[in-house]
Parts: sequence; structure tokens; C-alpha cells
Amino acid sequence: MKFIFITGGVISSLGKGLTAAALGTLLENRGLRVALQKFDPYLNVDPGTMSPYQHGEVYVLDDGAETDLDLGHYERFTHTKLTRLNNLTSGQVYQTVLNNEREGKYLGKTVQVIPHVTDEIKNRIRLLAEHTGADVIITEIGGTTGDIEGLPFLEAIREFAHEVGPGNAIFMHVTYVPFIKAAGELKTKPTQQSVAKLREIGITPHIIVCRCERPLDKELRQKISMFCNVPVEAVVEEKDVDHTIYEVPLMLQRERVDELVCRLLRLDTPPANMSHWQEILRKLIAPQHRVRIGVVGKYIGLQDAYKSVYEALSHGGIAHDCGVEIARIEAEEIEKHGPEALLKDLAGILVPGGFGERGIEGKILAVRYARERRIPYLGLCLGMQVACIEFARHVLGLDGAHSTEFDPDTPHPVIALLDEQRQITRKGGTMRLGAQPCQLKVGTRAAQLYGAFLVQERHRHRYEFNNAYREAFEQAGMVFSGLSPDGKLVELIELPDHPFFLASQFHPEFLSKPHQPHPLFRGFVGAALLHTQKGR
Ligand code: GLN
Repeated sequence: MKFIFITGGVISSLGKGLTAAALGTLLENRGLRVALQKFDPYLNVDPGTMSPYQHGEVYVLDDGAETDLDLGHYERFTHTKLTRLNNLTSGQVYQTVLNNEREGKYLGKTVQVIPHVTDEIKNRIRLLAEHTGADVIITEIGGTTGDIEGLPFLEAIREFAHEVGPGNAIFMHVTYVPFIKAAGELKTKPTQQSVAKLREIGITPHIIVCRCERPLDKELRQKISMFCNVPVEAVVEEKDVDHTIYEVPLMLQRERVDELVCRLLRLDTPPANMSHWQEILRKLIAPQHRVRIGVVGKYIGLQDAYKSVYEALSHGGIAHDCGVEIARIEAEEIEKHGPEALLKDLAGILVPGGFGERGIEGKILAVRYARERRIPYLGLCLGMQVACIEFARHVLGLDGAHSTEFDPDTPHPVIALLDEQRQITRKGGTMRLGAQPCQLKVGTRAAQLYGAFLVQERHRHRYEFNNAYREAFEQAGMVFSGLSPDGKLVELIELPDHPFFLASQFHPEFLSKPHQPHPLFRGFVGAALLHTQKGR
């Protein structure tokens, strides 16, 4: 078993996660079984309790783990199925160490960062290795070299590499080579310094991946090679992508990173055949059709808050050879300016998941606009809940209908807490989380899109459709096309007399991949395309 450790230098947000995922793609296409893992140095047990402003999207796994959004890249770029073993935070490490201490596992000893914390980190690498039996484990260390909180992780991977010996573990450092406009040059000094910082800890990188806006010329590569102590072929250019993140694997392949990795790890494998990937890229870069879809949310200004939703939309486009342009619409703007001003000309409207009251009325206005103007609508989690509220208010005439999350005293609580959620007071990891079965109703659009009657989808929510209103909804034309197998929970709703009006209590965006677009996103983009073509 071989190990690749990916660290980051100079600044955060360099796309280490993407680099790790793209390397995973290449290695898989060389016939290797790959597992990817992320270590996050913060003290939260998981990102589930963090605001999107702090952390971006929380990516949910089948087993209900709330994880870093880089794990979304791992699942989209490779075939690996991830579990809670694949994301480790300092919070989890300390929680385990302190529990061990109370149980007396270290009886008589002073408990210290080295060896107790570092041992726990190393354990997690071994555990994943055992659990997956993969040929190669790629471990990405979050944060930037030089961060105080990252030190135990760097020490742990240094020790680990020492223990498995040369040829079995390599270090890849992703760094930034800025372009300084005034000088008209790319600068290597920050890279040199961050590599020096790593060496101080005892880690010498084998490969240096240089994130840059402009091409790295030969001279610069030689300079980095010389001062960072790596052969020149191990200085890799990773330029900003022109069109899509799905270019990254091919970019790394052109730089022969996979070849080098395999050589360093003594893995004898054929070159990666990336022709299917090239076809995906062709459809993303030069699609035959185009549609414009609005995403109405609350964290629209943030690049990362709806990452998987944006990705899944582009996958839905791949299925129809259709480029999806996304109009990012702040729900509160709809409250201020009305839906017409912001939503006209859209081929589809999507309301993603969310928490908290801000912007909720704007989302309800967006649903109403989509329903009445017969514009394709896809609602995800909160997007289903607001669709139910809108239907209750404007079709059933239930004034003041709401979710008890936003109005605890509403006369018509069409969305409410289940009894089991009412008892819960602790916030971390206590929502309805992870993969749950959903039974689809024969003859519905959902069943037709999935081509199945029982599916598993990932959840992350507390509130549910209130069954007291089921009959009234059905009589007014709403179809509950997906239910939990015991029939108690509403998972999918649709309006059959609308070109496409479908919403799910779960998060289909977490299961979409470029080579396997999710059926609901495929259906939604298909409907949006039809809407655009009809409008012409
Ligand atoms: N806030 C809603 C709930 O908890 C929806 C959650 C979501 O959209 N992920 O049920």
C-alpha cells in the first residue's frame, strides 16, 4: 500500500482538494484503487456546526458524516465511496485522546501532543488503509504550512512516512506562484519559503505543484527545482483553469504528474486513458445547447456555499450536451425588487437547501413565480419546504402557512418537527443525516427519471412535511412521488400538470458526478432546455 500526502503553502484556497481529487482520477485510470482522506486542523468535531461563511458547503456522506466540501470533489472525481473515516479534524482527535485518557488507556502517563495526538492521527491513516484496502491512500492536510494548529498533523505524516519507508510514501506540496503586475513576473520566493518551512519540520516534498495565473517557464521551474531541492520534472505547473475544474486531471496528466507519482512509489501501471474525460470536457466547454438557470439562495455571494448544487447542474447539462449558465440570485433581492425583475428570462429556477429565516419570503416568491409561469422548478430540502409553504398559501388558501422553523406560531404548520427531533437539544450531528431509502410512486415523473422504485438519497435536515396536510395537498393536485418505505415521511413532491415542478426533502446534489449526472438534475436541465427551445 502506498501513501501520498498533500500539503499546502503560502495561502489557503489554492484548490488542494481539487488537486488531490484530480490525481485520484488519474491514478484510478491507471488501474489503481484509490482512497482519499482529508485532515482538517480546526477544533470543531465536524463542519456541521459552522456557518457557510466560515466553511462553505457541508458535504454529507451516506453514513451521515457531515464533512468538508473537498470530499465532494473526491466523490465526483473518483469512484470511491467515502465514510466518516475519510475526514478527520483536530476536534475528533482530541475527543478520542481525551476519552482514552478518562478510560485509563494511558494510565500512569503524561498525555501529550507527541506521541498521543500524533499516534491518533497516524491511526486514522492506517484505519482507512485497512478499511478500504486501496492501492494508494491520498491524504490532504487542510490549512497552510506554518499554521500552529496544523503542526501535529505535519509531524504525524512525517513519522508515518518514516515508518513505511522510502518508496512507499511521498509528499506533494501545493503552493502559489503569484504574478506581480508591476514587475511583470511570476515570483517564486513565497514557494521557496513555504518549502523551507516544511523542511524545518522534517518534510522534504517530492513534488511541488505550483498554482499560477500564467505559465511557468523553464527558467522558473529550474529556480524552484534548485531552491526547493526537487528535480525539475517534479516542479508542476497548475495554471488557473480556463473553463471548468474538470480540466485539472488533464492538466496534471500533461505535466506527467501521475507518471512521476507512480515512478516515485514504484507502481508499475499503464498510462491513464482519459478519453471519456475528454468527451465530458468537450460537452462542458463547447456544448451544443445552452440554458440559463437561476439559483435562489441566501449565500449567493459565497463561491463555495452551494458547491455541489452548481456542480450537479453542470452534470445535468452534460447529459443533454447543454451548457448551464447559472444566475446566482440573492433571495432577499427578490423580496425588494419582486420576482419579475430577477427571474424573467430564466429557463429554470432552483431553490437549494438552507437554514434560518433570512430570505425565506424571497424563496417563496420564486417558487410561486416558477409554478404560475410554468418555469421548470427544482427544490432541494428547504427548496421542497418552501414549495409546500407556497402551495399551502396560494393554492389551498391557507393564509400564514409556514414552517415552524420560521414561525413557531403559524396557524398552518405545513412543515414541522417530528417528535423525535423535538427532544433533541444538542446541535452537533443531530439532524436527520445520511442515506435513507425513498420509495417512488409508480407513474410519476420521479419514478420515470430514476428508472427505479426504491432509491437511496442523502439527507441533512430537522423539519419534515406535516402529514396532517397530505390529503388537502393531494386533493389540490400535489403528488407525493417519493415517501420513506414506511410511508410516514414525504421525500419527493411534484406537480403533474406543470412542465417540471419537482422538489426533494433530500439532497440529490451530493450524488451527482460528471460521468453519472443525477437523474433529477438531468430531468431538470432537460426541462429547462425544452423551456428555452419553446420560447424561441
Ligand atoms: N432548515 C431546514 C430543516 O432543517 C432545511 C434544511 C436544509 O435545507 N438542508 O429541515
